[in-house]
Amino acid sequence: MSETIVVITGGGMAGISCALFLARAAVGVTVFDSGRSSLRRVSRVANYLGFPEGIGGNELLDRGRQQAEHFGARFVVADVTAIERRGDGFLVHAGDDEFASTFVVLASNKSTELARALGLSLGGFGDKFIGVDAQGETAIPGLYAVGRITGIPSQAVISAGDGAKTAIALIQKIRRQYYVDHDT
Ligand SMILES: Cc1cc2nc3c(=O)[nH]c(=O)nc-3n(C[C@H](O)[C@H](O)[C@H](O)COP(=O)(O)OP(=O)(O)OC[C@H]3O[C@@H](n4cnc5c(N)ncnc54)[C@H](O)[C@@H]3O)c2cc1C
Repeated sequence: MSETIVVITGGGMAGISCALFLARAAVGVTVFDSGRSSLRRVSRVANYLGFPEGIGGNELLDRGRQQAEHFGARFVVADVTAIERRGDGFLVHAGDDEFASTFVVLASNKSTELARALGLSLGGFGDKFIGVDAQGETAIPGLYAVGRITGIPSQAVISAGDGAKTAIALIQKIRRQYYVDHDT
């Protein structure tokens, strides 16, 4: 069994961005991703800030992953099949392996099975989304959710921002102090 501080379930726009900010703060983070981001279907994303000519969905995701890995995030290509409460943290099942973590971040877009299995109920528009507070935490302490799974608008840049916002809230919780990620 491996251990990490944060497990992120889903390596799409929100999960990658969350991992990037956690890794830059030296928080141990492992991302499990089954490779089915909605953005992989998009040949040209024309509304992502910073790319005036547009950028391919695959390229945007792959570059984001490289950036997060560069700062120390770990990525595993695997489906998370179950998440259990274990003491104050979680036990995450993926493939034949188990990973213990203090926090879990759900970033799995339309896949809400894991959240429902943990006892969370769905709400929001069409009863399809996971409710979170201003820090991104669900009704289960230590369990966070980011991106489209929380019902925010379906734009890649919004999911990326949401992942970053919750990463910073988590870093502040772990360090118990105000945190900014600024380069000079
Ligand atoms: C057809 C289409 C076109 C779009 N075009 C645009 C566009 O032009 N511009 C724009 O800004 N947005 C566009 N979007 C929206 C954009 O793709 C989403 O807003 C964005 O990808 C949401 O990010 P996310 O991280 O919440 O989810 P996603 O990027 O979908 O990532 C979710 C990830 O979770 C993984 N996952 C799910 N369950 C598990 C599990 N149990 N274990 C491990 N991994 C799991 C999936 O494999 C996936 O990689 C489009 C969407 C669609 C469907």
